[in-house]
Amino acid sequence: MTAAVEIAGITKRFGEVVAVDNIDLQIDDGEFFAMLGPSGCGKTTTLRMIAGLEFPTEGSLKIFGNEVGTLPPNKRPVNTVFQNYALFPHMSVRDNVSFGLRMQGTTKSEANRRAGELIELVQLTGLESRKPGQLSGGQQQRVALARALVNKPKVLLLDEPLGALDLKLRQEMQNELKSLQRELGVSFVFVTHDQEEALTMSDRIAVMDKGKLLQVGTAEELYERPLNRFVADFIGQTNLLDATVADDDMIVLGNGTKIKAPNPHSPGTKVAMSLRPEAIEIGRRGDVPADHVATSLNGVVSAMNYLGHSLVYQVKIDWIDLEVRTDPVASEDRLGPGDDVSIWWDRTADWVVPDE
Ligand code: ATP
Repeated sequence: MTAAVEIAGITKRFGEVVAVDNIDLQIDDGEFFAMLGPSGCGKTTTLRMIAGLEFPTEGSLKIFGNEVGTLPPNKRPVNTVFQNYALFPHMSVRDNVSFGLRMQGTTKSEANRRAGELIELVQLTGLESRKPGQLSGGQQQRVALARALVNKPKVLLLDEPLGALDLKLRQEMQNELKSLQRELGVSFVFVTHDQEEALTMSDRIAVMDKGKLLQVGTAEELYERPLNRFVADFIGQTNLLDATVADDDMIVLGNGTKIKAPNPHSPGTKVAMSLRPEAIEIGRRGDVPADHVATSLNGVVSAMNYLGHSLVYQVKIDWIDLEVRTDPVASEDRLGPGDDVSIWWDRTADWVVPDE
């Protein structure tokens, strides 16, 4: 199958700044794909290169098999929804949505008919004559979506499109965007710095940092099997313990403790062991089950917080503070600050990444 977008060896420099650093990426036809990373990581620049709003300094960019080179945005089978929506304030909803078709020379009646279909799709029927200033943020967002979809793009690019909405509306729009994408079968490429949003919505996610593409995978792959320290830390919450690989499936932690942690890295490699807070068990000192002694540590509780659906402990282990999350238990069974404890985990619960 031809990829919707195929990026090979793309670099983008702005003077001295390397905004995107030699990335390779394939986005499939019909895929909901997120580009995720902290501010300045290069995700927007990558999206803008697909859109034709920036051109690569080096590398190849194909859309459905065709090299797009320096083709302008309106000559590519893509369209973009911007964070600020960029609606025409003096035009009605209907005219905003039909604008792209009118520019292509479509007759007014055909453009209005098609705009009507899109307005219905994004659930704005009845508001056709309003101006953007007479709409809520969520409604403006829908107009921007309808306007970008009216030309039937094969790839829809979305640049933090939910950034301006409050949390509740944002969550609602996440679900709607996802079902809209399924219904249309068009590839959506979505830029966000919000990892929860990316995990909720996407088929696959590309994690970027400092212009580099660090990992591409499903939410589960990124969460369960991160390739490096940055991804382990950025996706969800985790405890990262510095260590060095020994032999025999063991690693040596920062304080000299040897722990069983099978991993593919060669002896002597500096690594970090990722332990998710919910994957750790906690009990009174010495309560470690016999079959978990090789994956246990001793510590002292420094804080306990009751969060309703869970209890969160901060546990001081010599040189490091770990977070442990458990199901709630009756108050007399909870551990508290100052308690000597042991923590332990299943051998399958840890994950060792190179320390880069
Ligand atoms: P944000 O979430 O803050 O938008 P981002 O991950 O999308 O960040 P980019 O906008 O792609 O990051 O920017 C990547 C780097 O390139 C940043 O260091 C940025 O300052 C720089 N950059 C982006 N556009 C330009 C430009 N037109 N001229 C110079 N530098 C730029």
